Amino acid sequence: MVEKASGNPTLDAVRRAQPCFWWNPHATGEPSDDPLGAEVEAAEDRMLRARGLFGQLFPALAGLEDPIRSPLIDAGPLGVALAPSASARGAWWIKADHQLPVAGSIKARGGFHEVIAFAERIARKERLIDESADLAVLAEPDFKAVFNRYSVVVGSTGNLGMGIGLIASALGFKAIVHMSSDAKAWKKRRLRDHGVVVHEHAGDYALAVENGRRAADADPFAHFVDDERSIDLFVGYAAAARELSVQLTAAQVQVDADHPLFVYIPCGVGGAPGGVTYGLKRIFGPHVHAIFGEPVQSPCMLVQLLSDGGQPVSVYDIGLTNRTEADGLAVAQASMLVAPLMRTRLDGIYTVTDDQLFALLGAGDSCLDIRVEPSAAAAFAGPALLLGTRAGCAYLAAHGLTGKLARATHVLWTTGGSLIPEVERQLMLDRAGRAAPFTVNAEGFDGTTTLAGRTS
Ligand SMILES: *Cc1c(COP(=O)(O)O)cnc(C)c1O
Repeated sequence: MVEKASGNPTLDAVRRAQPCFWWNPHATGEPSDDPLGAEVEAAEDRMLRARGLFGQLFPALAGLEDPIRSPLIDAGPLGVALAPSASARGAWWIKADHQLPVAGSIKARGGFHEVIAFAERIARKERLIDESADLAVLAEPDFKAVFNRYSVVVGSTGNLGMGIGLIASALGFKAIVHMSSDAKAWKKRRLRDHGVVVHEHAGDYALAVENGRRAADADPFAHFVDDERSIDLFVGYAAAARELSVQLTAAQVQVDADHPLFVYIPCGVGGAPGGVTYGLKRIFGPHVHAIFGEPVQSPCMLVQLLSDGGQPVSVYDIGLTNRTEADGLAVAQASMLVAPLMRTRLDGIYTVTDDQLFALLGAGDSCLDIRVEPSAAAAFAGPALLLGTRAGCAYLAAHGLTGKLARATHVLWTTGGSLIPEVERQLMLDRAGRAAPFTVNAEGFDGTTTLAGRTS
């Protein structure tokens, strides 16, 4: 059990809620298996067949060739502000999932895929379509009448509810979202405004999920979207890797042994960043280095990967509160579908305080004029920690990357935020203005110690 593993310096820092950088001693670079490869390819194919559907369901997306693609944005000015040294800075890009339509977050990928896959299963069971059908037909009234008999249920801190609820309701399903107390009021309002039923629960995210699961279990016409276990969600996220690789090629970015790719993704339960990482490793193998960011009070993937066994470990087990303004990351227990897949695929994890998240959110606003939520700002901390801390430099040295940094590419995955109402955004920027600027020194950041990978 993790409680007894004292003497582990990373774990001690995690327990004290100190920011830290950990690199994964079990990472192999090249995965030795691909247990979900066929499912990832089916998801890529399904999302292609659904391109026309989005325009039918959401008028704002009508006529777009690739409605659920997010831009890859040059983040050079943010690199200038945040990189510890110019010579090792490399190229910085933002994978702007905060701009994904309808859901305003990366949940558009997994959530849309899961609901569409469910709708497709029903339509095939009813013999309304065959397996290669263009899924635009799912928006037709005959289908809606069929989907009307079913409900789609999900537990969420907010964004997954928006990724599932709006499309489920647009397809004709009854959409029910169970939300935790930390879900933001504007997210609940937006869902209700779109015909989604929102149930609120006093406890945390896991309790919201549990309530959703129980409600759906009792109803044969209910489909429960299980954020902790769903393969359809996971592979929907994984399909983003192909999209990124096409965009990198179009931007003439090389990725190979001499041109490493570093990708930084905020992590909650693990499905979104884990799926993306899974997909990236299939395409780029050892040349992609996948690194997650978590809040200091909710580092659920870090505590899970630090524990040796296959038993679930939560952040509560080591005395943390799971309280953070990064509501998309406020998860105490990592997905036990995803954590084992990350054991050899994920290269590192760092943690950040809420104040740092706001400082970074402010940096994104002033350098790039982009609108992200605190959860997404966690991505911005990654390159500076990798390049500027002792632990990060040890990782680079161990992988023979130190001399390749000028040719490296850093992709910061902004996972959500474009739908934040203007008043909320102003409050966030006010708090960003009061936060100390984000800085890194060799020992760590904010004067705390940053620690190397686990040695045991
Ligand atoms: C959901 C979410 C994440 C993390 O995704 P998980 O699947 O929970 O790990 C990160 N950022 C934002 C904005 C999110 O909504």
